[in-house]
Amino acid sequence: MGVPVWLSLGSNMGDRRGYLLFALQRLTEHPAIELRAVSSLYVTEPWGVRGQEDYFNIAVAINTTLSPHELLAYTQSIENASGRQRTTRWGARQLDIDIILFGEQQIDEERLQIPHPRFKIICIAALV
Ligand code: ADP
Ligand code: MG
Repeated sequence: MGVPVWLSLGSNMGDRRGYLLFALQRLTEHPAIELRAVSSLYVTEPWGVRGQEDYFNIAVAINTTLSPHELLAYTQSIENASGRQRTTRWGARQLDIDIILFGEQQIDEERLQIPHPRFKIICIAALV
């Protein structure tokens, strides 16, 4: 069903594991989203802003019949439901859900870039 999509989920505030489980629960609840696979949990250092807790990160594979913008609206609604406040960019957050790849789509808009820009940096770094 639908298009294969990779998501990156991160939390570095409060009950970090709990927020990731909350996001997984909300993803599985959506009738147009099929959860395919969940990675191990990775603990990573934050970048951009110092003095924050480490991130708990997971990668999640889904299939979806939603459009990229519909999926972004849904993942942002999950971020908001976690109590996330959009104050400083790259600041601490309960939940961050990034769309890394969406099938073979390429989108370059201010609100939505696919593949995700930081993923492209990682790929380029791996190639040089
Ligand atoms: P970041 O994830 O870069 O640390 P935010 O989570 O605060 O920062 O996201 C900032 C904006 O990035 C969001 O409002 C969203 O519209 C935009 N954005 C652009 N491309 C994507 C994407 N592929 N996945 C998620 N958000 C994206
Ligand atoms: Mg984000």
